[in-house]
Amino acid sequence: MKYENLKDQDVEVYNLSEKERERKESNLDMIPSENYASKAVLEALSSCFNDKYAEGYPGARYYGGNQYVDQLEILCQERAKKLFSVPFVNVQGYSGSPANHAVYMATLSAGDKVMGMDLRAGGHLTHGWKVNFSGKYYDSVFYGINKETELLDYEEVRRVAEKEKPKLIFMGATSYSRKIDFKYFKEVADDVGAYLCADISHISGLVVSGAHESPVPYADIVTTTTHKTLRGPRGALIMVTEEGLKKDKDLGEKINKAVFPGLQGGPHEHQVAAIAVCLKEASSESFSEYGKQVVKNCKVLAEELGQKGFRIVFNGTENHLLLIDLTSKGVSGKEGQELLERAGIIVNKNSIPFDTNPPATPSGVRMGTPALTTRGMKEEEMKQVASLIVDVIEKKDDETVTKTREVVRNLCSKFPIY
Ligand SMILES: *Cc1c(COP(=O)(O)O)cnc(C)c1O
Repeated sequence: MKYENLKDQDVEVYNLSEKERERKESNLDMIPSENYASKAVLEALSSCFNDKYAEGYPGARYYGGNQYVDQLEILCQERAKKLFSVPFVNVQGYSGSPANHAVYMATLSAGDKVMGMDLRAGGHLTHGWKVNFSGKYYDSVFYGINKETELLDYEEVRRVAEKEKPKLIFMGATSYSRKIDFKYFKEVADDVGAYLCADISHISGLVVSGAHESPVPYADIVTTTTHKTLRGPRGALIMVTEEGLKKDKDLGEKINKAVFPGLQGGPHEHQVAAIAVCLKEASSESFSEYGKQVVKNCKVLAEELGQKGFRIVFNGTENHLLLIDLTSKGVSGKEGQELLERAGIIVNKNSIPFDTNPPATPSGVRMGTPALTTRGMKEEEMKQVASLIVDVIEKKDDETVTKTREVVRNLCSKFPIY
């Protein structure tokens, strides 16, 4: 990528951007919520749609001059509806958290009850956590995982829902590595009369490639970020399903009103342009192979690490990520993250369910394969990466770290991003 004008006019920002690009090229990005958007997506993001004010929706804007913006937003909507098989979508959410906020605003009043997965078990902040809007302005209750099986505790989902009668139920997670039984949640939501929202921010790329079941037949609303496994720009989709419209024929309209004027002003139409590009890419045969390879790679990584005595939380993985308990290796998640970063392997420290350590120094690290798979890495490379991780975490010494850094640099140079 050239960025000639940027280089000319603001060399400080240009230099930082170049350094960031070099950092990306020479490190293994194993943060499961990250990915590399294509050059086409990045070009759409820098398009002149950035400049336009378009408050409102296609055909009903509060500003003039929106003939092409309208066509663009409709194109983006149509692509999303087709790809996910839904009758309604809003493509204006600035990101995943505001998109979820819009779901609350469309379905609840302040103080109403919401049920989500406990953050400490793998849920997201916006599913009712106390420091987040969702826990501050709504009454939140949680389900978690079963201590014995380490799987999502479906019986608890039913028990809490029947006792607390939430009006909105979230299913979806940020660090849970197993499949989610959407059908079970629907039965519970129907029994207690709640709206059911599937937040597939992490797994939407797997869903469209057929590597994870789709929640669309079961949920009323489906939200997703567009920048994780879907590999697009930062952004979000809020979809309403046939089920959702059956439950409430105005649900789409309520979502639109919650996004604008409820929570946001002018939509970021350059972002909508880039989402449209990402959706076209995600409809391709090669993306479908990509999603399946992400899961295959993750499985190999988990198996290799498991064989070397690393405890894989949730007893393995069925998606793009895994959570590792480092307790038996004598390092905290924070120390593990720092050791690996020095060796060029980027992961994030993460609490594990029933963690006895505080969130700043949790017992685990979370890692995943979406970005490495985008680079073209396959099972062979995963085996190599696993052995590098084992080496660094077990030996911990400077010599191993320095040696690994060189091996990582070499491996990365064989799989260029751009
Ligand atoms: C990442 C994520 C979000 C929030 O997305 P942001 O774009 O970071 O606001 C919401 N829900 C889940 C499940 C996520 O993983």
